[in-house]
Amino acid sequence: MIKKTDTDTIEYYSRDASNYHGTADVVYIPEDQAELIKIVAELSGKNIPITIAGGLTGLTGSGVPLSGAVISTEKLNQIIEIDKDNLSVVLEPGVRVFELQAKLHEINLFYPPNPTETNSTIGGNISTNASGSRTFKYGATRNFVDRLKVVLANGDILDLRRGEVLADGYELNVTTLQGNEYTINLPAITMPAIKHAAGYYIKENMDAIDLFIGSEGTLGIIAEATMRVVAEPEKLLGGILFFDNETQVLEFADIVRAKSLANNKFDYRKNLDISFRLIEYFDSHSLGFMRNIRSDIPAKAVAALWIEQEMSRENETAIMDELYSLLKEKSQLADEAWIGADRKAHLDFQDFRHALALEVHEKLVTYGQEKIGTDTAVPNDCFKEYFDFIIGNVKKTGLKYFAFGHIGNCHVHTDLFVDNESESQIAHYYCDTAIKKALDLGGTVSAEHGIGKKKKKSLELMYRSEAIESMKLIKSTFDPKNLLCRGNLF
Ligand SMILES: Cc1cc2nc3c(=O)[nH]c(=O)nc-3n(C[C@H](O)[C@H](O)[C@H](O)COP(=O)(O)OP(=O)(O)OC[C@H]3O[C@@H](n4cnc5c(N)ncnc54)[C@H](O)[C@@H]3O)c2cc1C
Repeated sequence: MIKKTDTDTIEYYSRDASNYHGTADVVYIPEDQAELIKIVAELSGKNIPITIAGGLTGLTGSGVPLSGAVISTEKLNQIIEIDKDNLSVVLEPGVRVFELQAKLHEINLFYPPNPTETNSTIGGNISTNASGSRTFKYGATRNFVDRLKVVLANGDILDLRRGEVLADGYELNVTTLQGNEYTINLPAITMPAIKHAAGYYIKENMDAIDLFIGSEGTLGIIAEATMRVVAEPEKLLGGILFFDNETQVLEFADIVRAKSLANNKFDYRKNLDISFRLIEYFDSHSLGFMRNIRSDIPAKAVAALWIEQEMSRENETAIMDELYSLLKEKSQLADEAWIGADRKAHLDFQDFRHALALEVHEKLVTYGQEKIGTDTAVPNDCFKEYFDFIIGNVKKTGLKYFAFGHIGNCHVHTDLFVDNESESQIAHYYCDTAIKKALDLGGTVSAEHGIGKKKKKSLELMYRSEAIESMKLIKSTFDPKNLLCRGNLF
């Protein structure tokens, strides 16, 4: 067992990608599951708070300790088994997304919920129910979790397989491998039927495994996960499509979103129409930023979309024709689109999108700023109203901002840059108005980053106080001494 108490190590584990800062007395780095279980039981016996650190790429301070011990999963990083026939992988929690994708690619498989930050770990992804661009077609991390081994605060272990332990209405009973039973009374809340990562997942007759996915380390520590993966498609069309008109990019996005939602239900080999697996948006400020990195962005472009569609040899020509004819109707820059169907082109387009998030993040770290931005999403039929509202309001702040992201899921981030306290207040006020508007429209306060320590106020806006009190009771049933990831969510 690696144990560290030096100042540099403590400092490293006291901050995540949001620049939220905390402190701890000690960092443990278990090298196998047995060590993990042992240290949890020991710390729990001494009432020492435990914060789990994955890749620390979180944007809400959820992996940041407030006191006590950090347990880092960085050495629990084995891909234990890949079952190609059953499209499933068994992983330790510290496996990084980029490592998993590289391994799967060697055998023509891929893991769809590919969050932009691929240095993140599978444990972190499960604990935040992370999602990425391909969540548009495939859903978030939750959809890919088949089995979890979870270490509870007292060192007991839950082994949960999807479909095996279901709630009876709003009562959920789970039993640990040690034979201890836990009865949970779930609050009767309704979660928005969209991409959502705020608070515990609660549903009538729900699967016990879903309670732990997205619980931000507050209910237990994921020691092992069995995840579903999918086969790479026969062919893939990718593109960065440029627009010289801000209204037309949104009209185009609406059309291709609707077509894709209808057509993605069918076998991609049989589609002759648009069925994108991702639709990502860049506003003019994002493109302006990217012009520092890429000189070949068309001069007249004021917005862009990154798209991907799975194809076969039989339907690729029909799909390509359909894309061009639709694009020509909505963009004067159709002929300047970057289109490609080979792996190099796909990686290039993906890097283009990821570079925006990474460069923005880099800038924040360099200037020691906290990220102030929205992670809200709304139902499809309200998106136009919501988008107009947030863009109108973010412009009024007078601050430098980018609008970008998962427009397929009606989930566009607005990130603001601030230089001083008064700008910070303006940015926070803007975010609050965006959150309230999203909630008025039946949306969520967090579609993918979670609540952590920074966004607790938003969770309180989302749910009634009784629902939050019920969630706290769930937490105290599994962790009566409030030791795990103290300060997250509540
Ligand atoms: C540039 C950039 C782009 C990003 N893009 C996306 C995106 O597209 N989509 C998205 O969803 N997020 C995105 N994020 C946010 C972040 O990458 C995700 O939240 C990710 O899931 C965090 O994983 P991590 O391993 O870094 O976890 P950490 O930040 O270390 O921890 C996150 C939470 O998970 C808990 N945790 C970690 N491991 C375990 C475990 N084994 N058991 C129990 N709890 C655990 C921690 O305690 C904490 O509560 C982005 C971040 C950055 C910096």
